[in-house]
Amino acid sequence: MSQRTVALEALRGDLIARIERYQASKQRFEGALDKDIEDQSIELENSEVVDSLENEAEAELKQVMHALKRIDAGEGEHCDRCAAIIDPKRLVALPYTTRCMHCADLP
Ligand SMILES: [Zn+2]
Repeated sequence: MSQRTVALEALRGDLIARIERYQASKQRFEGALDKDIEDQSIELENSEVVDSLENEAEAELKQVMHALKRIDAGEGEHCDRCAAIIDPKRLVALPYTTRCMHCADLP
């Protein structure tokens, strides 16, 4: 197993734990029905913040899973857009990337 795979699997574990924490904290917000209106609106705002954090973590998790799939298929070192070899230093810095530097910002 490569160092990159180890890093990706650790990241995957972190992200799954984070998403579970976000979901648990949202359940707490929803459970608090006996508060006054002001408290409820603060909690609603908090739950929107948690939602956006959760979406971010889910997008990152998707990217990690995609990178692991490409590694499994033997294509982990190749850009998924232009098929060029991705700079190994880039893969150390961003283990979840599946694009070369040139394609990174392209749609
Ligand atoms: Zn590329």
